[in-house]
Amino acid sequence: MEKKLLNWLEIDSGAIKKNIDTIRKLAGKRQIAVALKANAYGHGLAEIISLLLKNKKGDIQYIALHSLDEAILARKFGWDRNILIVGYIALNDLSAVFDYNLEPTVYNIETISQLGKLSEKFKRAVFVHLKIETGTNRQGIEPGKIKKAVEVIKKYSHLKLKAVSTHFANIEDTTDHSFAESQLNNFNEAVANIKKIGLKPELLHTASSAALLLFEKTKFDLVRPGIAFYGLWPSKETYLSYRLQGRSNKILKPALSWFTRIIQIKDILPDSFVGYGCSYRTTSKTKLAVLPVGYYDGYDRSLSNLAYVLIKGKRAPVRGRICMNLMMVDISDIPGVKLEEPVTLIGKNDKESISAELLAGLANTVNYEIVSRINENIPRIII
Ligand SMILES: *Cc1c(COP(=O)(O)O)cnc(C)c1O
Repeated sequence: MEKKLLNWLEIDSGAIKKNIDTIRKLAGKRQIAVALKANAYGHGLAEIISLLLKNKKGDIQYIALHSLDEAILARKFGWDRNILIVGYIALNDLSAVFDYNLEPTVYNIETISQLGKLSEKFKRAVFVHLKIETGTNRQGIEPGKIKKAVEVIKKYSHLKLKAVSTHFANIEDTTDHSFAESQLNNFNEAVANIKKIGLKPELLHTASSAALLLFEKTKFDLVRPGIAFYGLWPSKETYLSYRLQGRSNKILKPALSWFTRIIQIKDILPDSFVGYGCSYRTTSKTKLAVLPVGYYDGYDRSLSNLAYVLIKGKRAPVRGRICMNLMMVDISDIPGVKLEEPVTLIGKNDKESISAELLAGLANTVNYEIVSRINENIPRIII
């Protein structure tokens, strides 16, 4: 007997296909590395890999992951094409780069040296992506250390500089792109230097979703979209900038929906309190529904008394605080609701819908955080 799901996600494979088509159009003939870190932005690493492998066009050659652990899982789930690691691998664990055939992003001389030594020891090639510090001041090798990095790379014949990359600080957050332009100048300068010292990287890459959507000059040879692949816009500003260029707003389709079911319905009196801290008090007779989802599942506690869910195509406001595994919603104005009635937390329900952006706005965060923090134990169903 199939178990009745009480808390599940649906991943719309048609939406993913559409978003891949959009990304392919924006990327032209360039290579594409889809960001699948953070459990594929909460969409499920195994599920998204299975969709990518089934995608007939088969033109996604790279996935971008944060950690060695994610890469090991991706290999286990059958991903046999390129893996770009955008995070950090501990010096002690770098032999895994060879075991799992990974392309690490490098920005420390120590990492480069260690990879060089291992490549010599194993007599095997290793392909690295050198990340340049251009103004984000996150990972990236400072311009003053590039010469040294190149010298180390040249020392080891099996150590190949496959790519040079950087990451923009401020494309998502503003419609003014002058800072991105300055980062691009710094990047181009660093690349020119690297070539002058005698290395020829095969690929240059800088563009995440926002850059891919807005900036032709950032696309180079490979693009690294994440959020757009899942059908979400990087930000309101990116959306506005894109629309101001006079382009279509129908190019991305959100792939993720989140559902649960009502586990209890009760009638409570006026002046009753709801939940921990008695933070909500009824003003009239109220029909309350209890849902088996809480902040452990990734439904942010800051949505307490703020958000709503959808039941029978109608909005049911969250009452009281979000608990660890439970929450309560007001269904007084929704007739005919039964025990185990399905509930939409994110996604469409009849004519109403709740977007990740709506929840992000209420929770004072971004759509990235709303989807990526959905607990990885919740089943993901591909539809
Ligand atoms: C996550 C990530 C991306 C994807 O960013 P989006 O804004 O989701 O498109 C691109 N590049 C790097 C280095 C990343 O870590």
